[in-house]
Amino acid sequence: MSLLTVDRLCAGYGALRVLHDVSFSIEEGNVTVVLGANGAGKSTLLRALSGMIPATGSIELDGYELLSGRRRRPIALLGIGHVPEGRGTFGGLTVEENLRAGGYHRPRGEVERSITEWFELFPRLAERRDRLAAGLSGGEQQMLAIARALMARPRLLLLDEPSLGLAPKMTGTLFDNLRAIRERMDMTVLLVEQNAHLSLQIADDALLMTAGQVGPRRPAIALREDEQIRRAYLGA
Ligand code: ATP
Repeated sequence: MSLLTVDRLCAGYGALRVLHDVSFSIEEGNVTVVLGANGAGKSTLLRALSGMIPATGSIELDGYELLSGRRRRPIALLGIGHVPEGRGTFGGLTVEENLRAGGYHRPRGEVERSITEWFELFPRLAERRDRLAAGLSGGEQQMLAIARALMARPRLLLLDEPSLGLAPKMTGTLFDNLRAIRERMDMTVLLVEQNAHLSLQIADDALLMTAGQVGPRRPAIALREDEQIRRAYLGA
């Protein structure tokens, strides 16, 4: 079943139009990766989906039109979580405060239970619960940003280049962690990632983006075996 259906989406910055009639859908419970060259518009697509920039066309989340005039609720309450490029943490808050902030609109008891679960799943975050986020390593901050976004229990998580700036080993750990989270909770993720090799391993589906347009959705496994894709994205 489709959770998100996007139809003829256009968006950009002032006079610069970046997205040109983008249409696609993503399946509930799947991880969908968006691959494309630098400047293709991947980050812009995520920003348009989460309402950070204005857009025209249609964005339907679980049958609810997000671009209609009635949309005035915060995007988190509509069920979209966005971890933007370059760490979505509050540097001046501790690890635990960041998690708490992510669940601000959920009942207190549930938030406490979720925090306990996160600390069980990622003992490293637990050890650092009272440290300021700004003092964590890049990889730890990225994990915290993802955990914080998931504290809101979004229907759809938008993840922009989580591996950006991370050492290869840390990137491997991050993807292992994403896999562990997937096993624990149902989540639907739209992932933008330069590391096509790792992201195609974790993804169910893939979308190719070229010059502000999105091609047909394909199974990630088919892309892993596609010669052209291997040459363009996998360095084979
Ligand atoms: P990258 O991997 O390099 O981030 P991308 O596919 O995510 O690439 P976008 O960041 O979405 O691409 O950029 C698409 C186009 O929009 C580029 O031409 C870029 O220069 C422009 N652009 C991106 N952000 C802004 C902004 N805040 N203001 C103006 N133009 C922007």
